[in-house]
Amino acid sequence: MAGIARVARSSSIFGVGRCSYSTTASAASGTGLRADHAPPFLHSGGVARDVSKDRNVQWVFLGCPGVGKGTYASRLSSLLGVPHIATGDLVREELASSGPLSQQLSEIVNQGKLVSDEIIINLLSKRLEAGDARGETGFILDGFPRTIKQAEILDGVTDIDLVVNLKLPEGVLVEKCLGRRICSQCGKNFNIANIDFKGGDGKPGISMAPLLPPSHCTSKLITRADDTEEVVKARLRIYNEQSQPLEEYYRTKGKLLEFDLPGGIPESWPRLLEALSLDDYEEKRSAVA
Ligand code: AMP
Repeated sequence: MAGIARVARSSSIFGVGRCSYSTTASAASGTGLRADHAPPFLHSGGVARDVSKDRNVQWVFLGCPGVGKGTYASRLSSLLGVPHIATGDLVREELASSGPLSQQLSEIVNQGKLVSDEIIINLLSKRLEAGDARGETGFILDGFPRTIKQAEILDGVTDIDLVVNLKLPEGVLVEKCLGRRICSQCGKNFNIANIDFKGGDGKPGISMAPLLPPSHCTSKLITRADDTEEVVKARLRIYNEQSQPLEEYYRTKGKLLEFDLPGGIPESWPRLLEALSLDDYEEKRSAVA
């Protein structure tokens, strides 16, 4: 972690340009999840360590806007005791700060475009440095890398253990983004969409009940400025052009875990834990709690 913060901070990273296990799990297909792809974990002191590296896990979450990267990365972060670092959150914090970058960022973000590598790496390295100072180790990255160049920069400074690629049909993604709401006070995410997506061509349908806020949040809900239909479609197009190639990048390295979400959190969370071989871990933690 210190390595990334240090190297990302050094300006040379921007000038140079370029600086296992193979996994497939399809919860939606009903074909069953394979256990042979399980990451090698040792659980100690409430923190999941990668046995082969003798350090805390360093994972990346990939997936289209609205797929639920934040939801599942945040749950895993609490379970494993490693920080969940979402570059989209860092960008939104910078926007809210009315600092020197905020005007420039709001134009880019509100059109659904990606901000420059230089800006995003600066925000990420500041976040990593702050975590380092607090003694954080390991991470679950969400929203970074977003391009092959960012992945190469990351590979140049640290070793990623596992890349979880969450998947949902595009129609569901648009509905989920349009239904997303955030409590302006506590920052929690909710969703008012009631999704009933019909399957076809051998693919199962997907139902997701709304994730409604408690009454004290109801009057404080806001919608992200980039969750309008036009901007969501632009973000999906940009994801397909610039971020989807990352799937092949990590597949070739034998680090990709593909996960088709079978539905909302109640159906997906246990299946994801199973795919990560963490189902036992959660039971043991719940028993101790
Ligand atoms: P997200 O919350 O991940 O959808 O991110 C919100 C917005 O922040 C994106 O649409 C981008 O404008 C910007 N952003 C977040 N992460 C990155 C990244 N790794 N590279 C470039 N832009 C990013």
